[in-house]
Amino acid sequence: MSNSGKAEVLIPRSLCLIEDFDNLNIDVEDLCSISITWENGFVSELRPLKNKDKKPKNILFPRFVESHSHFDKSFTWQDFPNLESNYEGALLVNLVEHKTRTIDKVLERVEKSLSLAIKNGYRAIRSHIDTYQSQPIDIWIELFKLQKKFSSELTLQFVALAPLEFWNTLRGEELAKILSSHGGILGGVVVPPFHKRDTKKLLVKMLLLAQKYKLEIDLHIDESIIKPGAGIKVLLEIIENSKISIPITCSHLSSLIFLKDNEILYLGKKMAEKNIKVVALPLTNFWLLNRKNKTTSLERPVAPIKQLQQTHVDVSIGSDNVQDPWYPFGNFDPFYMISCSIPMLQLNPWERMTLSSIFLAPSRLLNLKWDGLIKKGCPADFVILNGQRWADVFSSNLKRKVFIKGNLYN
Ligand SMILES: [Zn+2]
Repeated sequence: MSNSGKAEVLIPRSLCLIEDFDNLNIDVEDLCSISITWENGFVSELRPLKNKDKKPKNILFPRFVESHSHFDKSFTWQDFPNLESNYEGALLVNLVEHKTRTIDKVLERVEKSLSLAIKNGYRAIRSHIDTYQSQPIDIWIELFKLQKKFSSELTLQFVALAPLEFWNTLRGEELAKILSSHGGILGGVVVPPFHKRDTKKLLVKMLLLAQKYKLEIDLHIDESIIKPGAGIKVLLEIIENSKISIPITCSHLSSLIFLKDNEILYLGKKMAEKNIKVVALPLTNFWLLNRKNKTTSLERPVAPIKQLQQTHVDVSIGSDNVQDPWYPFGNFDPFYMISCSIPMLQLNPWERMTLSSIFLAPSRLLNLKWDGLIKKGCPADFVILNGQRWADVFSSNLKRKVFIKGNLYN
């Protein structure tokens, strides 16, 4: 049967749950030699390979999960470049692009992004979609049709990324209702400078709307170099002083890194208590923020991943924008994302917490049925690379095979 097969592979130890762990043959980079069999689209057997001299020539990963992207603007760089490469320029060009937006243009970008993402090895993606008053609400009907069309190959989650004010309008409520019947999420931006009292009021309204329709929220928050942690402090204040209890994702949270470690740990503990999840987005943060045109500096804000993990905050690493005014590179390729971000963040790929932020935390964030661990009974959803060491994974010359429910995807 085409959805059955067998392979001898290396699997990162922390991504593999095997009964016979006493006999595992694990190399210095924590890759273990495994014989894997799948039948009818599911893993039926995992067995340690004993012979140390015959190291498998392939590395197997579960298919990837992208926790943060922007399908609606991908590949617009060509027509809407931001050659200054800063945050303000990106926002300005983004708003100009909105004026020429049509439903068809957005759908075309989404389809192109989806096809690439599936081919490159993703199984699930959360994408923010710019949302504003003048936008026809019909776009959502079409987006949810695409979500359904691709559902056998990829789980797609949409976040309606709107100004906070939008969620305090009738149109906002109308959209919240639509989102609630399709698993959509409310999104917004909390980036200083902002008026604290007004922002607080609007955030409360948004949270109450989410609670009313049993929705999650995902905020672009503290993507900034000023007022470190101003956004998350306001958010925590609201949650602590109210009975609102909804799942919350904080995307970016970059300025937190400018706080003292004990303050980061203090905020991290509060976030963990409230089960607030974090998505770190090193590529756009390093590209856009704290840019100085005449000097090269390494002072870049990005969510302090290790400190947050220490306080048990679930941190995912995402890609963010692809070839748009916010980031001119990328190709919906998980290996591009990890090749750039792992060295820049000084995360060891052979460590459990690093792989958690790439595979397991994003699976939890998107509430996927499968946690991403390779084990007996899990879906035969793999990316198999030619390679024997991490250096082969972070090379520009990757040869990969993607398996979806046991079938080789071409
Ligand atoms: Zn974003």
